[in-house]
Amino acid sequence: MLSVESIIIGAGPCGLSAAIEQKKLGIENIIIEKGNVVEAIYNYPTHQTFFSTSEKLGIGDVPFIVEDLKPKRNQALVYYRSVVKHHDLKIHAQEEVLKVEKIHDHFIISTTKQTYKAKYVTVATGYYGQHNTLDVPGADLPKVHHYFKEAHPYFDQNVLIIGGKNSAVDAAIELDKAGAHITAVYRGKTYSKSVKPWILPLYESLVNHEKVKLHFESEVIEIKEDEVLIKTPEGMQTIPNDVVFAMIGYHPDYAFLENMGIELITNEFGTAPYYHRETMETNVENLYIAGVIAAGNDANTIFIENGKFHGGMIAEDIHSKKLKNQ
Ligand SMILES: Cc1cc2nc3c(=O)[nH]c(=O)nc-3n(C[C@H](O)[C@H](O)[C@H](O)COP(=O)(O)OP(=O)(O)OC[C@H]3O[C@@H](n4cnc5c(N)ncnc54)[C@H](O)[C@@H]3O)c2cc1C
Repeated sequence: MLSVESIIIGAGPCGLSAAIEQKKLGIENIIIEKGNVVEAIYNYPTHQTFFSTSEKLGIGDVPFIVEDLKPKRNQALVYYRSVVKHHDLKIHAQEEVLKVEKIHDHFIISTTKQTYKAKYVTVATGYYGQHNTLDVPGADLPKVHHYFKEAHPYFDQNVLIIGGKNSAVDAAIELDKAGAHITAVYRGKTYSKSVKPWILPLYESLVNHEKVKLHFESEVIEIKEDEVLIKTPEGMQTIPNDVVFAMIGYHPDYAFLENMGIELITNEFGTAPYYHRETMETNVENLYIAGVIAAGNDANTIFIENGKFHGGMIAEDIHSKKLKNQ
């Protein structure tokens, strides 16, 4: 069994930041990551541009400089790899944490490869690995996707996009460029307020020119092999269909959190883990959370921009506990 003072689960930007801040205060740590560094960003749409400026995405005092104001996915992959090298972070990649158990005053962490013992654990596992699911017949057909990568395969195809937030809007814009025939259904009465203001005019223009046939206050009722049934204010419609992008959001792995004893609370957006606002410590002593996972179902409150600061709060708390115990 490998013994280490602190383990961070997840090498996303917020997990990396937590590792750097702990290292700065002399807290020996390793990161365990089921994929590789910034796996969620790697899984973004290939041509994704961040909504944040590179400065706001920067961590660990390593400048993130790009020619444009807002970096692209590929530039971020290079940047975060260079941060890992610069700070010489210890990452155990391609290793998934399966279980975290507290035994007396330490944790036993079981992974797909080995078992670790640690005094402190930080969970920074994000939400992108778990997509929300549709509850309609046909939702499990292979043509239904919850992640959008590239538009080319959908040239001249009938595509249905479900959802009206950023990921749905971004996918529609890309798919239009590649010549897909796009229908979109969205439950809202009008465009979502969360759509980034510089993206919305492009989308509105596609809708106004009927390049995207957008149905507000509408939902999908059934997905079949070559058509979809949708319910709109004008009544039921059957539309020819080759592929569906259900861009209906993502959520933290709540079972993973619950199994390690983290209390879940219910708020107006759904579920969220309980934690102390000043320290990011959960109800389990010495077990912390960092990054977007802290927001639970309310994905619009914590981003890299602010989640990257959780690491500093956690490191300070661990450091002050260590000083008290000296
Ligand atoms: C398309 C898109 C664009 C976005 N653009 C921006 C933006 O411009 N600005 C911004 O601030 N935010 C943006 N976000 C939101 C969010 O900030 C990012 O998703 C960010 O990656 C979250 O960082 P994180 O470190 O909290 O989690 P993640 O980056 O999701 O990292 C979690 C890591 O944990 C790993 N993991 C999960 N479970 C386990 C396990 N059991 N064992 C081991 N490893 C595990 C995952 O593989 C992953 O690498 C965007 C999100 C999306 C989807």
